[in-house]
Amino acid sequence: MAKRKRNRDWIQDYFFLFIPSPLPDELLSSWLTRMALEHKRTLSLFFSLFIRHDGNSSTRTDLDFLFDEKLFKTLSQKSTLDIKEIYRMSLRSEEGQLFTCNDSLYPPLQIRKLTDKRNHNGLMYCPKCLKEDKIPYFRKKWRYDFYNACPKHRILLIDRCWRCYSKIEFSKIKHQKELCICYKCEKDLRENITTAISSNYSYGLKAVKWFEKGLSRGYFLINKQKVKSVFVFDSFTKLRYLLHRKEKLNLNEFPMIDEYKDICKKLNEYNSKKALSIKKEFILTSMVYFLFQAYPKNFINFAYENNLTYRDFVHDFKNMPFWYKKMVDDLIPMQNKVGREISESEIVAAIKYLKIQNKIVNQLEVSKVVGCHFTIHKQFVKKYKKLNKSR
Ligand SMILES: [Zn+2]
Ligand SMILES: [Zn+2]
Repeated sequence: MAKRKRNRDWIQDYFFLFIPSPLPDELLSSWLTRMALEHKRTLSLFFSLFIRHDGNSSTRTDLDFLFDEKLFKTLSQKSTLDIKEIYRMSLRSEEGQLFTCNDSLYPPLQIRKLTDKRNHNGLMYCPKCLKEDKIPYFRKKWRYDFYNACPKHRILLIDRCWRCYSKIEFSKIKHQKELCICYKCEKDLRENITTAISSNYSYGLKAVKWFEKGLSRGYFLINKQKVKSVFVFDSFTKLRYLLHRKEKLNLNEFPMIDEYKDICKKLNEYNSKKALSIKKEFILTSMVYFLFQAYPKNFINFAYENNLTYRDFVHDFKNMPFWYKKMVDDLIPMQNKVGREISESEIVAAIKYLKIQNKIVNQLEVSKVVGCHFTIHKQFVKKYKKLNKSR
C-alpha cells in the first residue's frame, strides 16, 4: 500500500512531457486533449497520471466552465505556462463581459451546455475552420450561445459527426490521432459536408459579427452610446424569449421573417428537429440584433405590433440590468389602468412612438397610446399640457 502511494506521488510530481502552445481563442478542454494525445493517453488517463487521481470523473465534467483554482495552478506549474494563459482558455474568463458573476457549476444561458436535448447534440464546430488550422483545435466562441454560424466561412456550426451521428466528446477519444477525428467511427470531421448560408441569411452573419465585436471590446454601440457588453448579453435571453412568438410574430421589417416562420412550421411537423433548431437559434439571434438597429424604431415597433406591455418586458427578469430597465422605461409606456398614476416619461414615450410611426401627435392620440381618457384623466391632461408648453 505504502509503495503504491509513493508511486502515485512520484507520477504527480512530473512536469508534462509535451506542452502544446495554446492557440488563439482555444478552449481549455481542447488544449488539454491535444496534450493528452501527445502523451499517447486518453484524456482521463492523462489526468489521472499527471494531474489528479480522479481523472475519470474530472474529465466527464464541463472542464471549460469548471472553476478550480487548484487545477489552474497545477496546470500552470506543470506546463510552465503563466496562470493567466491557462485562465484565458477557461470560459470563466468571460465573466464580466459575457455573463455576470456566476458561482453555479453550470454555465449561464449565454454559454451552450455541452449537450442540450432540444437544440443541439454536443460541442459545436466549423469544419472549415478546422480544415484551415495547421493544428486543428476547438474555439471558445463555438460555445457562445450567439455564435451559431461561422461568419468567415458562411456556414452554420455543426454539432456531430455526420457519418455516425455521434456528438463531439473529447473524453471519449481513444485513438491517438488528431482532435478533429471522430472518437467513434474515426471519420475526419474536417471532411464533413457543409451547406453555404444562402444570401437571404446573410443578415444573420452580420448579427453574429456584431455580437462577437461587442464581446471582444466589452461594449456595444447602440444609438451612438456605449453599452457594457454584459448588459446586452444578460438581456439577450429575455428578448429572445419575447421574440420567439412563432406564427404570431409581427416583425415585418426583419429580413428573415419568412424563413423564421417557415422553420417554426417545419419544427411542428418533423420529428428530426435538431438541425433545424440550430437554424432557428441563428435566426432568433439575428432578431435580437435587429431590435437594436435603427434604434429605437425597431424596438418600439416590435412592442406595439405585438401588443407587448411594459410588464412583458420586465416580468420575471431576474438580475435585470439597470440599462435594460431604463431602456424599457423610456420606450414602452406602462400598462393601461383606469385612474392610475401617469408619469411624464410615459407621455414622452408615447409621443416618441407616434412620431416614429409618422402618426398625428395630439392630446387624443397620445392618450390612446398611454391608455387613458384624453379629457377626463386630470393628471394626464395636466402633464400633457405642461409638456406641450415646454416643447
Ligand atoms: Zn469557419
Ligand atoms: Zn463518427
